[in-house]
This record gives sequence, structure tokens and C-alpha cells, in this order.
Amino acid sequence: MRLIFLGPPGAGKGTQARYLTEKHGIPQLSTGDMLRAAVAAGTDVGKRAKAVMDAGQLVSDEIVNEIVSDRIGSPDCSGGFILDGYPRTVPQAEALDSILAGKGIALDAVVELKVDQEALVARMENRVAETVAAGGTVRSDDNPEAFKRRLTEYREKTAPLSAYYAMTGKLRTVDGMADVDTVTAEIAAILK
Ligand code: AMP
Repeated sequence: MRLIFLGPPGAGKGTQARYLTEKHGIPQLSTGDMLRAAVAAGTDVGKRAKAVMDAGQLVSDEIVNEIVSDRIGSPDCSGGFILDGYPRTVPQAEALDSILAGKGIALDAVVELKVDQEALVARMENRVAETVAAGGTVRSDDNPEAFKRRLTEYREKTAPLSAYYAMTGKLRTVDGMADVDTVTAEIAAILK
């Protein structure tokens, strides 16, 4: 199964993608996680991406397209994958179309989590509080200023992907404001 999760930051894409990973035995490809790993490892890409990520802006299409193209070609993606946080712009979606066409594969579905954007700042603050309480490390872009910038980036650059994928007939929309188990059940029903 080859899936994309669409939705603003804090919509629950990562949580739902992790659940499907276990259920279907396919990897979750989070470009955010891959970039954070590159930053932590101090690679060239990491050095170029860090300031942009901390400001809540988008890393260049060129960097993420290359990361995804390489990753999709890995043996563990042969049975499918879940893209979480990619594509995030129409040019990235077009690049993905050609990456997939070049490998002779196609997407099965694009699952969009619809959420009330007003509620997302509170969700981010809860996530930070839970992480701190558990003794974890808070993401450097999980602060009100960067988060608002991430939401603006989403509205301006990523939201047009709903229309892009609606035209392919593969877009499925789920109410992301419901509790986690309800969202999981709705996604499972959609993917049957
Ligand atoms: P995320 O973990 O998906 O919230 O991503 C964290 C940050 O990584 C974003 O705010 C961007 O700076 C960067 N990023 C992740 N995925 C992409 C992407 N597909 N295109 C551009 N930037 C990305």
C-alpha cells in the first residue's frame, strides 16, 4: 500500500501513520524526521536545513525531493510506504508523480486529516507539555512563533494539494478533530 498523509502541523498525521506502519508492516517516511536526523548528524543537508526549519519555513523542494526519491528506492519500501509531511508543495507533488512513474508504481490513496486550525496551537502546547513531563526533548520548531509560521506555510503552499489530489480521484478526507481511536477506525474503513 502506498499512501500520503496530508494535513496541517499537529493534525495527527504522524500518530496515524505510525499506527498503519505496524498494521501493514510498511515504513513511515516522514521528511521532518529525516531532516531532523540530518540536522542531528550534522550532514551537509542538515546544516542547510536547520535555520529554515527552526524558523518554521519550508526546506527547498530540491532537497526533499532527493531525500524521498532515494528513500523510496530502499528495499524496505518495496511493499509500500506511508509519506508523512511530503509532498508539501505542488512542485513536490509533481516531482513525486515523476519519481513514482520512473519506478513504475502508483499511489493507492491520499488521506487528508481535516482539523480546526484554531485548535492546533493548543495541541502543540499540549504536546510540548507532555514531552517535558516525560523528560523528552522538545522540537526546536515547537514554539508559538515558529508554529504559526508553519501553519501559514501550510495554508499558502500545502493546502492547494487537496485540489491537486482530488483531481486524481485518490483523495479521502477524514475528520481529524475526532479522538485518536475514531480517526484510526475511519482511516481503516477508508482503506478497506
Ligand atoms: P514536520 O516534522 O513534518 O512538521 O516537518 C518539520 C519541518 O521540516 C518543516 O517545518 C519544514 O521546515 C521541514 N520539512 C519537512 N518536510 C518538508 C517538505 N516536504 N518540504 C519542505 N520542508 C519540509
